[in-house]
Amino acid sequence: TVRTRIAPSPTGDPHVGTAYIALFNQCFAQAQGGQFILRIEDTDQVRSTPESEQAILDSLRWLGLDWAEGPDVGGPHGPYRQSERGDIYKKHCNDLVAKGHAFHCYRTADELEQLRAQLQEAGRVTLKPSDLALPAEEVERRKAAGEPYVVRMNVPESGTCVIEDLLRGTIEIDWAQVDAQVLLKSDGMPTYHLANVVDDHLMEITHVLRGEEWINSAPKHKLLYEYFGWEMPVLCHLPLLRNPDKTKLSKRKNPTSILYYQRAGYMPEALLNYLGRMGWSMPDEREKFTLDEMRAHFDIKRVSLGGPVFDVEKLSWLNGLWIRELEDTQLADRLQNWLLNRDNLMKVLPHAKGRMETFGDFAPLVSFLAAGKLDLSEASFASGSKLELEEQKRLVQFALWRLEALRSWSKDNIFAAMKELSAQMEIKLKDFNAPLFVAISGTTASFSVMDAMDLLGPDLSRARLRQAIE
Ligand code: ATP
Ligand code: GLU
Repeated sequence: TVRTRIAPSPTGDPHVGTAYIALFNQCFAQAQGGQFILRIEDTDQVRSTPESEQAILDSLRWLGLDWAEGPDVGGPHGPYRQSERGDIYKKHCNDLVAKGHAFHCYRTADELEQLRAQLQEAGRVTLKPSDLALPAEEVERRKAAGEPYVVRMNVPESGTCVIEDLLRGTIEIDWAQVDAQVLLKSDGMPTYHLANVVDDHLMEITHVLRGEEWINSAPKHKLLYEYFGWEMPVLCHLPLLRNPDKTKLSKRKNPTSILYYQRAGYMPEALLNYLGRMGWSMPDEREKFTLDEMRAHFDIKRVSLGGPVFDVEKLSWLNGLWIRELEDTQLADRLQNWLLNRDNLMKVLPHAKGRMETFGDFAPLVSFLAAGKLDLSEASFASGSKLELEEQKRLVQFALWRLEALRSWSKDNIFAAMKELSAQMEIKLKDFNAPLFVAISGTTASFSVMDAMDLLGPDLSRARLRQAIE
């Protein structure tokens, strides 16, 4: 049976690109009666967090995607989290070393830097096993001294690697472009390449549908499958999502987090529908379709390779279609769930209560929390601060950079970051906050900007700051 997977790394916000790849994997497998599974690639221990993993699982589920096996549902090929499979990778890596397909490399960071500099002078781009070799006595010495080593794979020095891609046909990549990739790091953790190949094999994945950014990894993977003596899954590299200006989708130009679309009031069905239109269309070209309909008509050959543009305005238009086709009772349920649910209210009330004389004061006070994009004008900024508009925007830009780097979003952390930044810029916190206030809430007549950002959450807050300086 056909088995596909999504293999996200839990290193940040759940990306719409991850949902897009997941959607196509799910449709591809299920249209052929196969299975779609989810694996967490958390070998980057510094950048991976449990919160990010949870957010990825939650947002894919929110969209209506589901998987037959995964870290949250189990399955016969577990564990489905790479950090729990360390022994499996070590064993397989040892096998490669024993067969002479991989070697221990004792080169130090300084030596590697020197080697790279020499390489550059020689007009070459990759380190080959022969570049890395050390005299046998030196290897023995370093080994005896217990110096750290990595395991690297052998790669051909020259010639061409030929890859077959389901959509792109034959792809040729020169071996000269492929380096003696590290497979196992000095701390014993596998790299993406080793773990990915071992897991795809052990999890019986038959087709790998992933973003085109991975094409250059394919030669290493092909070689690893050969070294292990395993059959390689069919490869299919999907086109990456793009900004309307055709550059790779980036959060500087478009919100990329699924959480943003959830908070900004998009319907999951509409977002999934829109992702289904990224490079793909229904045979009858209809714009609005459900996951079931997409699955029923799915044909990978209909994917077009021209970069699909993720355009928030088109998404909003499609979302409008979805909203208008809901029964009023359904829309009431959705709105109640999204806007007036008790958890949300309980978080907001402490901030609003002290500013209310009648219930009627509530909606205007909190309306900015419910809006997606705000309508800002120069006048909005002028009303809150004496600073020039350009200067205000500069403050917002600096604040945004600082907040993009914030790892844990809480009122205290936001406050500390803004206080530090305003001190560095030698601006009183009150003056510093004024333009942020406008960017976040649209007015200056609401509650504290730190509280507001805390309530809005990182995605919507950052998106508002970005929109304010556009
Ligand atoms: P970077 O700027 O470092 O490339 P990013 O915005 O691409 O960052 P990542 O954290 O690298 O975000 O990617 C998260 C996930 O989203 C990855 O699985 C990646 O394949 C996917 N992804 C990122 N950008 C796109 C895109 N333009 N189209 C499809 N998938 C994408
Ligand atoms: N962990 C990789 C990612 O984050 C998976 C790439 C692949 O599908 O092979 O996208």
